[in-house]
Amino acid sequence: MNAADSLRLASGLEKLGATKTEYIAEADIAVLNTCVVRQSAEDRAYGWLHRVGALKRDTRPDLTVGLMGCLVGVKGNKKIANTFPDIDVFLPPSDPAPLLNLVEQQQFIQKSETDVVSRRHALQDGELILPAADCGTTFISYVPVVYGCSHACTFCIIPFRRGIERSRPVDQIVAECRSLAEQGVKEITLLGQIVDRYGYDLPDRSNLAMLLERVHETPGLERIRFLTSHPNYLDDELLRIVAEMPKICDHIEVPVQSGSNEVLENMRRGYTVEQYSDLIERIRMFMPKGSISCDVIVGFPGESESQFQATCDLLSKHQFDKVHIAKYSPRPGTVSARRMEDDVPAKEKERRRKTLDEIQASVLSDINRQLLGKKVEVLVEGYQRDRWRGRTRTNKLVFFEDDRVWAGNLVDVEINWAGPWFMVGNLVRTD
Ligand code: SF4
Repeated sequence: MNAADSLRLASGLEKLGATKTEYIAEADIAVLNTCVVRQSAEDRAYGWLHRVGALKRDTRPDLTVGLMGCLVGVKGNKKIANTFPDIDVFLPPSDPAPLLNLVEQQQFIQKSETDVVSRRHALQDGELILPAADCGTTFISYVPVVYGCSHACTFCIIPFRRGIERSRPVDQIVAECRSLAEQGVKEITLLGQIVDRYGYDLPDRSNLAMLLERVHETPGLERIRFLTSHPNYLDDELLRIVAEMPKICDHIEVPVQSGSNEVLENMRRGYTVEQYSDLIERIRMFMPKGSISCDVIVGFPGESESQFQATCDLLSKHQFDKVHIAKYSPRPGTVSARRMEDDVPAKEKERRRKTLDEIQASVLSDINRQLLGKKVEVLVEGYQRDRWRGRTRTNKLVFFEDDRVWAGNLVDVEINWAGPWFMVGNLVRTD
């Protein structure tokens, strides 16, 4: 979501005449887009603010400093404003307007008024112009479809910082996807904290399945993904659309968070392990060759060894293609931070994380080995360490060597080496 928000801001700034620089010493404007989902991310943001504050005070008093994202939140953050007086402008998540307005008002980038107004209108109408640096080099992009979240998982700070659920109109999303495809983007991921709740708040009751059908019509677009799903909203109609429509990748991201019903209840996730397992079986029924990723939190307050073991068992049973493992980190204002003791020691959280990581490494070695000698379709994203890098429809990372330029192309690769985290192969088709 932050990558999508940053792209939107960069696009807006370029429309006002700004150009990107790699070096902060050369910049007129520096913006940090922040995440506070864990304390470590928040700490990194403070480190950057201290460094940029010192730069501004010592040598660059003219530098405009912006702070964006969850550290600002939808309601602003007075504490941060008092602690870091060098910040000139605060941008709530997914809202570039405060900085764009400031740039317009201060006119430190020279543009005629009509030019600025027409360019801003284009942005608001959903025509997302890729920043110059991304044109011809960006083949995968992210499009937010629903902002915020109205759920109340006890550990989660996102509803406090990103606000209540707000779906974007279908036509705006479709226009944005079309403009990205026209600029060379081949794969789009539709984003939402609970993406499968898309449309629940819209007067016309559009839903994600309907939206996917519309985006599927985008000329030039090769692949569509969506994330993150919530187990309670992945219905059969949506799964059918994913299974049947050729551009929609058969890959589902659906967090479980824990394999223990007691922990799930303490997290207020709204489903049981049994219901989650039924869902996984339904997904596999619709997409026998598809892939499934999930998220897990270890060390949630009160998580016992046997409850943790239940999560290990769940991972072994369902053989996920990817598991994002997070160590529980109490976030200020959340129910778990206010009412539950963070009683699993840091060392034990790390042991549990490592244990799950090892289970996953073994599961993935088995899954990926089955692809040895097989042909997979890869969308080539770029070049890395003398090899082309891309992903399969099931979101698996693949490398191959070739002297020609393949970025942005769909190619077939025959897998000849498979490890848990990536695979290597030979190019077999080049159209
Ligand atoms: S559904 Fe996701 S974003 Fe919403 S509160 Fe729960 S964990 Fe946070």
